[in-house]
Amino acid sequence: MTPAILALNAGSSSLKFGLFKDTDQLPLLFKGQIDGIGSNAHFSVVNPHGEHLVDEVCQHISDQACALAHLGQWLSQFKTQFTLSGVGHRIVHGGRDFHCAVTITPDIIECLTKLTPLAPLHQPHNLAAINTIAKRMPDIPQVACFDTAFHRTQNKLAQRFALPREYYERGIQRYGFHGTSYEWISLRLKTLAPALAQAKVVVAHLGSGASLCAMVNGKSVETTMGFTALDGLPMGTRCGALDPGVLLYLMQTEWLNAEQIQDLLYTRSGLLGLSGISNDLRVLSDHDASEAREAIDYFVYHIVAKIGSLAASMGGIDGLVFTAGIGENSAAIRRDVCKGLAFLGIHIDSVANDNAKQEQCLSPAGAPKPVWVIPTNEECMIAHHTQQCLAQL
Ligand code: ADP
Repeated sequence: MTPAILALNAGSSSLKFGLFKDTDQLPLLFKGQIDGIGSNAHFSVVNPHGEHLVDEVCQHISDQACALAHLGQWLSQFKTQFTLSGVGHRIVHGGRDFHCAVTITPDIIECLTKLTPLAPLHQPHNLAAINTIAKRMPDIPQVACFDTAFHRTQNKLAQRFALPREYYERGIQRYGFHGTSYEWISLRLKTLAPALAQAKVVVAHLGSGASLCAMVNGKSVETTMGFTALDGLPMGTRCGALDPGVLLYLMQTEWLNAEQIQDLLYTRSGLLGLSGISNDLRVLSDHDASEAREAIDYFVYHIVAKIGSLAASMGGIDGLVFTAGIGENSAAIRRDVCKGLAFLGIHIDSVANDNAKQEQCLSPAGAPKPVWVIPTNEECMIAHHTQQCLAQL
């Protein structure tokens, strides 16, 4: 039987997975997702050539446990072909202590549970997946890969808030997120554009959650998300950077409590809040309402402004990479962002941009500040770390 590693990425309404052969190059066997969990769940699986093996609506999938059970059931048809050597998980918050992936033990589960208030929409789902697998397959080692870990290379100035020092001692600092995705891009750049990989690059992870990372020589030096995954860019339903005085006003004058503010900032703001129509950029792009256009313009405006700020924090910018759902698929957003960055010498070729597929440079040959599209692959990064941790057992 072939040993295989299962990489899981359990979100609030989706479960993404990849099954990889546990050999040197970690070749992909299948990848897929269950999205719309709790509303209109949809299960899809593709093989390494992108051909659909499953593409079905599964309305009975009402929560993460159900989604995992469904995935387990589907995977069980291969139990005579593959044997699981380990399961790797994307864990959104690793706090200050976790700088790299670790094999999960009961103590580690306890530490991660304590970090739940720092990522209330994500951490419980990540932990639920670990606990479900621990119950169903107690002998299979599990590995935690942290979204925050990649940013622990940042200097103190980038990681602190200007609060009294005792708050920093209590863990209130900028952590940063999407690290698994940024690490993948950093790795791919070394192969695709070795000179750029060593230079000053901004990576734009634009999905339903969105952030930017400034990298120098492949290491994170600054990022837009902070203490939680709310800060920085406006997102599908999250507000992004907000004057903290707004929170005081909402509490003192509008009498909103913590739960109501959490709901407002995480689930009713961003593109959805601004447009009043949808959190999905595809829907907004096809919509005639001026509010839809305004939401898109706001998104682009803040991406441009924050890339300018990250360039300043690195003392310049040598290139830009787009990734994640919007970054990989929306030529219009890439075009508008790059237009706004022309003052930094960032230019793309419009034909290359309109036809971008897979890993591709969008700038004319020899451009001094190349712009790339590189699809993220968090599941492969997770499988890679899982393999490394298993080798140490
Ligand atoms: P996450 O992993 O954070 O859930 P993804 O990286 O999968 O998010 O990105 C999802 C978002 O990508 C969707 O909300 C949608 O707005 C956007 N998206 C996907 N395809 C396209 C497209 N062709 N054009 C514009 N936006 C797209």
